[in-house]
Amino acid sequence: MAYDQNNIFAKILRGEIPCNKIYEDDYVLAFHDIAPKAKVHILVIPKGEYTDIVDFGVNGSADELKGFYSAVAKIAAEQGLTQDGFRSIANTGSFGGQEVPHYHIHLLGGERIGPMTSL
Ligand code: 5GP
Repeated sequence: MAYDQNNIFAKILRGEIPCNKIYEDDYVLAFHDIAPKAKVHILVIPKGEYTDIVDFGVNGSADELKGFYSAVAKIAAEQGLTQDGFRSIANTGSFGGQEVPHYHIHLLGGERIGPMTSL
C-alpha cells in the first residue's frame, strides 16, 4: 500500500492538526488518543512515512527501529505504565481494524485491560 500523505497522523506530524502531545524526539511523536479506550491511551508514531508495522519492520532503518522502540519503553515508564503493566497494540490492515494508515502503537493502561480480542 502506498503511503497516503493526507492521513490524519501525517497532518498531525506536519502541525496541520493539533494533538495533545506527550513526547517528541527525532524519531517519534506520542500523544493522547482522541477517543481513549482506557484510563491511559497513548499513540506512539514514527516520524517516517510507514503505513504499518510490516512496512516499518521491513523498510525502517536500524536507527529508526531502535529510536522508535526505545521511545515506546521510555514513554511507558514516564507515564507510569510499567509497574502494573499495560497493553501495546499495532492494528494492521483491514482485518486488524487499522483506521489510520500511518504506523502507530497504542499503549493502553492505568487500569486492567479487558480481553485481548473481540471478534
Ligand atoms: P487504528 O484503528 O488505526 O489502530 O487507531 C487509530 C486511532 O487514532 C484511534 O484509536 C482513534 O481514536 C485515533 N485518532 C483518530 N483521529 C485522531 C486525531 O485526530 N487525534 C488523535 N489524537 N487521535 C486520533
